[in-house]
Amino acid sequence: MAAPKVAVVGAGVIGLSTALCITEACPSCSVSVLSDQFSPNTTSDVAAGMLIPHTYPGTPIHVQKQWFKETFTYLFAISNSAEAPEAGIHLVSGWQVFKNPPKEETPFWSDVVLGFRPMSEAELQKFPRHQFGQAFTTLKCDCPSYLLWLEKRLKATGVQMHTRKVEDLWDLHSEYNVVVNCAGIGAHQLVGDQELFPIRGQVLEVHAPWVKNFIRDGDGFTYVYPGIQRVTLGGTREKDIWSLSPDPGTTKDIFDRCCSLEPSLQKAQDVMVKVGLRPSRPSVRLQREVFSQGGLKLAVVHNYGHGAGGFSVHRGTAKEAARLVGECIAALQGSSSRAKL
Ligand code: FAD
Repeated sequence: MAAPKVAVVGAGVIGLSTALCITEACPSCSVSVLSDQFSPNTTSDVAAGMLIPHTYPGTPIHVQKQWFKETFTYLFAISNSAEAPEAGIHLVSGWQVFKNPPKEETPFWSDVVLGFRPMSEAELQKFPRHQFGQAFTTLKCDCPSYLLWLEKRLKATGVQMHTRKVEDLWDLHSEYNVVVNCAGIGAHQLVGDQELFPIRGQVLEVHAPWVKNFIRDGDGFTYVYPGIQRVTLGGTREKDIWSLSPDPGTTKDIFDRCCSLEPSLQKAQDVMVKVGLRPSRPSVRLQREVFSQGGLKLAVVHNYGHGAGGFSVHRGTAKEAARLVGECIAALQGSSSRAKL
C-alpha cells in the first residue's frame, strides 16, 4: 500500500492536535487538515484555555484522568521550554473557592496539577463570602497563540491545510484512506449526532495586568483567569443556545460577578467580548466506524464532543485518536495484502 492518506476534518484544538499526533505515530502517512474555519475563527479561539478538567458523565474517571495527565505533562514540558511564549503556554497559580464545602474535597485531578492543597485561613480572608477553598498551580493556554503554534508545527512536517467545508464525510472516500472527524459542534450536522448539543459560553477579555492569580468560584460558573497579555472573565453556560452574538446584559453580569470575586477588576480596561459554542455530549466520541456504500468502504475515526474541557484533555484524546487511525491503517494494509494473494 502507498503512503496512507489521512484527512482530519476540523482545525480547532482537537483537529490540529490530532493531526500532530498522527504525524508522530505514523510518519509515513500523508496528512491533510480540511476545515471551513481556522484560527482565529474557531470555538477553540474563544476558550479560556485553563487546564482544569470538566467531568464527562459517560466516560470512566480513570480514562478522563489519563487524558488530563497526558495533556498536562505535554504542556508542562512546553511551558518549561523556549517555545513557551510562542506556544502561549504558562503556569498559573490561584484559588478555587466555595461558599459551602464541595461534595468532593479532593477532585480526581488533584494529583496531576501542582501543589494542590486546602487554602489557608490567611488566603481565605481575601474571599469573605467563601468558607472553603483549594489552592493549586495549573497551566493556561493563550488559545489563538497555541493554535497558530500547532499549525506551524504541522506545516513544518508537511501537513497540508485546506479551507473546505465537508458536507458529507463519504465525499472524501475517493481521496483519502482514513478520515478523522474533529468537527466540534459541526459534527451535529456533519454526522447527525443527536447526542451533541451546544452550551453557549460568553467571556470577556480585559486589560488588568496586576491580576496574577486565577480565581474560580465553586463549579467554575464565575472565573478570573489571567493570561500572558489579558485576563479572561467568565462566564455563562446556556444549553442548546446557538447564538454567537454577544449579549450586553450578560457582559455586565459577568463583569459584576467577577468584580465581586476580585474588586480591583473595577479598574480593568479595554473590555472585549467573545462567544463560543461548547460541543457537548455525555462523553467524548472517540471511536472507529466503517462507512460503506455500493461495496466501497471508508475508515472513519471520530474525536469530538469535548464540551467545556477540550483544552484540558486535548493531547490525551488526540493520542488515542491517532492510535485508532493506526488500527484503521493496519486493517487496510491487511486487506490490501490479502487482495494480492
Ligand atoms: P472547534 O474549536 O469548534 O473546532 C472545530 C473545527 O471543525 C473548526 O475548525 C470548524 O471550522 C471545523 N468544522 C466544523 N464542521 C465542519 C465541516 N462540516 N467541514 C469542515 N470543517 C468543519 N476548555 C478547557 O479545557 N478549558 C477552558 O478554560 C475552556 N474555556 C472555555 C470557555 C468558553 C467560553 C468556551 C465556549 C469553551 C471553553 N472550553 C474550555 C472548551 C473548549 O473551547 C472546547 O472543548 C474546544 O475548543 C473544542 O475544540 P474542537 O476542536 O472540538 O472544536
